[in-house]
Amino acid sequence: MDYLPIFLRVQSRLTVVIGGGAVAARKAELLLKCGARVLLVAPELGEGTRELLQRHGPDAQMTHLCAPFAAQQLKGAALVIAATDSEAVNVEVSEAARAAGVPVNVADDAEHSDFILPAIVDRSPLIVAVSSAGTTPVLARRVREQVEALLPARLGALARFAGGQRERVNRLLQPALRRPFWERFFGSAANLERMSSNDAATLGAFSGQLAAFSQYPDAGALGEVYLIGAGPGDPDLLTLRALQLLQQADVLLYDRLVSPAILERARREATRVFVGKDVGESTLSQDRINELLIGYARRGLKVARLKGGDPFIFGRGGEEIAALAGHGIAVTVVPGITAALGAAAAAQIPLTLRDVSQSVTFAPGHVAVADTLDWPALARSGHTVVFYMAMAQLAGLTERLRKAGAPADRPVALIAQATLPTQRVVRGTLADIAEIARTGGYGAPALLFVGEVTRVIQQQALVSLEPCLEGVA
Ligand code: SAH
Repeated sequence: MDYLPIFLRVQSRLTVVIGGGAVAARKAELLLKCGARVLLVAPELGEGTRELLQRHGPDAQMTHLCAPFAAQQLKGAALVIAATDSEAVNVEVSEAARAAGVPVNVADDAEHSDFILPAIVDRSPLIVAVSSAGTTPVLARRVREQVEALLPARLGALARFAGGQRERVNRLLQPALRRPFWERFFGSAANLERMSSNDAATLGAFSGQLAAFSQYPDAGALGEVYLIGAGPGDPDLLTLRALQLLQQADVLLYDRLVSPAILERARREATRVFVGKDVGESTLSQDRINELLIGYARRGLKVARLKGGDPFIFGRGGEEIAALAGHGIAVTVVPGITAALGAAAAAQIPLTLRDVSQSVTFAPGHVAVADTLDWPALARSGHTVVFYMAMAQLAGLTERLRKAGAPADRPVALIAQATLPTQRVVRGTLADIAEIARTGGYGAPALLFVGEVTRVIQQQALVSLEPCLEGVA
């Protein structure tokens, strides 16, 4: 290791930044964020430094010295950062600082620096610092981005909460038990979700966990379940939280709609269990799936229940959490991009559009519920309807819409395997889409979009192409 990683307390201490440009502004801002006093030395100010001075000048946290650099400006400083656009001045600052024993950083110049500023992920009080010892800052920044995506935004609040409870835990638990307690505490995604403020309910829940642990420290922890919406198929459409929890899960229970590319984003060691539910048919009954979830959680495992799209849209997510709640198992629900939203984006169909469609309905397209739907409402104009599970009953659906008053030429779009490499989009009308689909071999899963919005963008694209085409002719 060429550098000693340390976190330096600079609160209320004097720090000096030499330079008035954008780089100096960034460095000064970081120092101000850490509570340091900043003396900015620069004959001229850029926009960034001027703006910082306006904000921090009045309370004297930041002062500006309108002068060229001189060694005596470093007197009493905890550190100095040189960020001018003149290499000669930067080197001069470095030499003066070293002579005066003040740690110095020269922006983008490791050779003249005593310390370097790492790339940081800020979940204060938790901070992750990444450094490549000045050799490859771009790589360090990439690593930082990856860590940024992996650490939940709420981690800071959780760390603050836990910090506030430390004394209490120390009083109640013998030293040997403290660490296992905190391991268990931080290992729970449910805690991450709820333990962020000091309100009565949170403190009560924490006291409960602490009391239970102090009484039965050897009793295995109850596992927990993450009900995760895995989105329409493209793994890049997973949410950050879905990705974070996939990295923690010991067991994955997944449906047919969850693509292999998504399963690959989970921990390698995680056990994968296919529970193969699809429209109508299911490999395992819902009761059996609930039993599995409860069984794994009881063994202390973290179970990710992955569902296509969003768990609460035609996903039976509600039934699964009800079953788990009955057994006192904590459930974290992660929303996902539902198929209609993924498909709309992929095919560039706006679900609502001023003057065209003001509302949208997601409706089930399978026959079992057909009689319970309000067909005249679905057939209204100025409205978009997206039918899920539409393939099997396409002809029946279009027929019912027409009987309920929708015109035969109402535009529709059928989108199969949306967001996947195999995606197919076909447009038509209520009158012809069933036949087009039948002869075109469109496979499930697919959605039927009904409404003027399915035509608008396509028409506009054609109109905007016309002048070009005329030019060509
Ligand atoms: N919970 C899921 C829906 C489950 S119902 C969600 O929020 O998306 C299953 C239906 O979803 C399928 O029959 C199909 O209509 C639709 N569907 C799911 N993934 C799809 C995809 N990639 N492309 C098109 N339709 C999809």
